[in-house]
Amino acid sequence: MRIIDVLKDEQVHISCELFPPKQGHQLENVKQVVQEIAILKPSYMSVTYGATGGTSDYTVDIANEIQNKNEIPALAHLTCASSTREKVHEVVEQLKAKKIENILTLRGDIPENADFPLPNQYKHASELIADVKSLGDFCIGGACYPEGHPEAATMQEDIEHLKEKVDAGCDFLTTQMFFDNGIYYNFMYKILKKNINVPVVAGIMPVTNATQIRRIISLSGNNVPPRFKAIVDRFSDNPAAMKQAGIAYATEQIIDLIANGVNNIHIYTMNKPDVAGAIFKNLSEIR
Ligand code: FAD
Repeated sequence: MRIIDVLKDEQVHISCELFPPKQGHQLENVKQVVQEIAILKPSYMSVTYGATGGTSDYTVDIANEIQNKNEIPALAHLTCASSTREKVHEVVEQLKAKKIENILTLRGDIPENADFPLPNQYKHASELIADVKSLGDFCIGGACYPEGHPEAATMQEDIEHLKEKVDAGCDFLTTQMFFDNGIYYNFMYKILKKNINVPVVAGIMPVTNATQIRRIISLSGNNVPPRFKAIVDRFSDNPAAMKQAGIAYATEQIIDLIANGVNNIHIYTMNKPDVAGAIFKNLSEIR
């Protein structure tokens, strides 16, 4: 099933993100995570490509597990900064062979000390999008940054490049995580003014331990509202309380988004079925 058809149907849709294992011997564990999250019946599940500690080697395997074993539409991430065009084409062919038609196309982070881009590389996600589109009938997603991408000099410049991605053939966008819904609403206002009209799935990260939040802030420069900071300050040395508070905070964010007409929400599950399960339970009637 094409994810764009899911996103446009006016229902509330909650999807989940997973990351693949780092090593082959962990593959069965991640397949177990897929099964436990699939039971929750998310609208689709995405699997990252070489991010959050996983490796790109198993992205196709996990996407196959999601879609062809657990019957949940799969969204396979694909990055290009660390790959050649040939490697990208190879992965696209593997996805095609498994009938995975949804791809989240990303540049990825530029490897340190690399001459980037080499002649056989893509420079921006927009180039990857145009190429993937030429390789088959895929439903293509892209990333967007309600607080601006860290490399962009200004928000305006970042939104201009976002428009290039959409014009290149991006069917929908998924946001970087944010902890203050006002940031998402302001972003939507700005991009609609620039005629970016594709669905924008709101990415929500349930932060269930203090180390996680420190890492997130240092990597992405996310704005952390005082209300959230107070939770981390108060509960960070009590893991069970921090987890409960993190789940409650993410649930509240999601309810506020849905109440304001944002129907498509993506949960960064960090491969934690219990956390995803608790949020789904909190939303049982709302979904
Ligand atoms: P781009 O869209 O190419 O943008 C990167 C920067 O270049 C931005 O500052 C943009 O403004 C600028 N830019 C774009 N086009 C131009 C142009 N023509 N001229 C000048 N500047 C330009 N990383 C992974 O490694 N694996 C994953 O699976 C993964 N999944 C992600 C999922 C989501 C939802 C999000 C939000 C991020 C994800 N990332 C992942 C992180 C992402 O790869 C990084 O944030 C990366 O630095 C940018 O990727 P992008 O696709 O947004 O790049």
